[in-house]
Amino acid sequence: METQRETHPNLQLCRCSSAVVDDETCILCGRYVAAPAEPGPAVAEAPAPRWTRAGIVRAIRAFAFFHDRPPSEAEWMAPTGAAWPSAHAVRRHFGSFDDGLAAAGIV
Ligand SMILES: [Zn+2]
Repeated sequence: METQRETHPNLQLCRCSSAVVDDETCILCGRYVAAPAEPGPAVAEAPAPRWTRAGIVRAIRAFAFFHDRPPSEAEWMAPTGAAWPSAHAVRRHFGSFDDGLAAAGIV
């Protein structure tokens, strides 16, 4: 038995300058991203969840949604639990905290 993935002829692809990919779609515009298939290494046991760009963007948007303002870098210096990533993680993924906010479309 084989599973076939349907391809859509008029598929609209993401054209974001810095797409944030979650699975196969860009979470900024919701469109598909033509990403090369990456057969990642088989991970037997996943360690502690690590923040991905998509996860960070989601966390920033969630924070902005609930607080009606973007998070500040100082606030995220010491993250509480797994609710959001540390400012360090944001900088590691986006270069700077502000660039992380920009990627999330907050600023
Ligand atoms: Zn996009």
